Amino acid sequence: MAKMPAAVFYAPGDIRLEEIEAPTAGPGEVVVRVRAAGICGTDVRIMKGGKKVAAPIVIGHELAGEISSLGEGVSGFKVGDRVTVEPVIPCGKCALCLRGRRNICLTRPTIGYEYDGAFAKYVRVPASGVAAGNVIALPEGISFEEAAITEPLAAVVNGIDRCNIQLGDTVLILGAGPIGLAHLQLSRAAGATHVYVSEPNDERRQTTLEFGADGVINPLSEDVVAKAKEWSGGVGVDVVIVAAGVPAAMEAGLKALRKGGVFNIFAGSPPNSTFALEPNIVHYGELIVTGSSGHTAAHMKRAVDLITSGVIDAKRLITHRFQLAEIQEALGARQALTGLKHVVVMPD
Ligand SMILES: [Zn+2]
Ligand SMILES: [Zn+2]
Repeated sequence: MAKMPAAVFYAPGDIRLEEIEAPTAGPGEVVVRVRAAGICGTDVRIMKGGKKVAAPIVIGHELAGEISSLGEGVSGFKVGDRVTVEPVIPCGKCALCLRGRRNICLTRPTIGYEYDGAFAKYVRVPASGVAAGNVIALPEGISFEEAAITEPLAAVVNGIDRCNIQLGDTVLILGAGPIGLAHLQLSRAAGATHVYVSEPNDERRQTTLEFGADGVINPLSEDVVAKAKEWSGGVGVDVVIVAAGVPAAMEAGLKALRKGGVFNIFAGSPPNSTFALEPNIVHYGELIVTGSSGHTAAHMKRAVDLITSGVIDAKRLITHRFQLAEIQEALGARQALTGLKHVVVMPD
């Protein structure tokens, strides 16, 4: 049996680079030679014990590569095709899948959580994933590195859809990590004329201005609500996007909104977090308070097209590259919030 290098997660704090058996493509399956794999905040949460996965398991769910083998009965692809993979595999038959809400499928086993993932030379896409359309062909003009971060950007596409941004809107984003900056780019693309960002980290505030924000605010030393009112002629902003899992920031964020505005909680928070919500603000203001989580293969395809066309500048979001053998350092850099997106690159 052929062996391959892989980063195997055993338990919180315990990830090991090992030689394991390389996957082969059974009926209906596709095996992808991984060329680039993004490090996600969720990978850090897994390492810290904040998210359970089916250990021991190869983690990594943001990937791009080339198809290396196809199982019996797979059509529409050939060996060598450049692809990315939607890692969440919808069951297709639960109440939510049947309502077209596959990203919040009630079971949704995921590559990198329940199936072996992308921090390895090869990754297998289960037959259920291939059948669900989770293998997505890449056009010319998008690199493996850019395609590897399609997954988080697809989540942002889903989030932006739920914000219902109108031409000429003013948007306030809480948090300026890579996800906040992707929201900045896509809010513009959706027609927002003014995009502001609240972020406590000095370096990230500076980066945000370089990415074209109309203004930034430090929530630790400035009043977000007052500033939002000032930026919006006194009425409040049209849309507030929560792109950092900090419940304390959400309370102010909700008050920064105009009547009839949309508040989208994109980021996950620590388990059992709460924030105080004054029902009358929502009631009298007819506020829409919503959330967004994950994505479908359709969001992935749209993210690929948005990157390829240059609407999303994915290159600029990638600040650090690592070899697979440096997986520990890569996870450490992500945890330390050094730079923006971290990608493991796997040349021949
Ligand atoms: Zn991710
Ligand atoms: Zn389902």
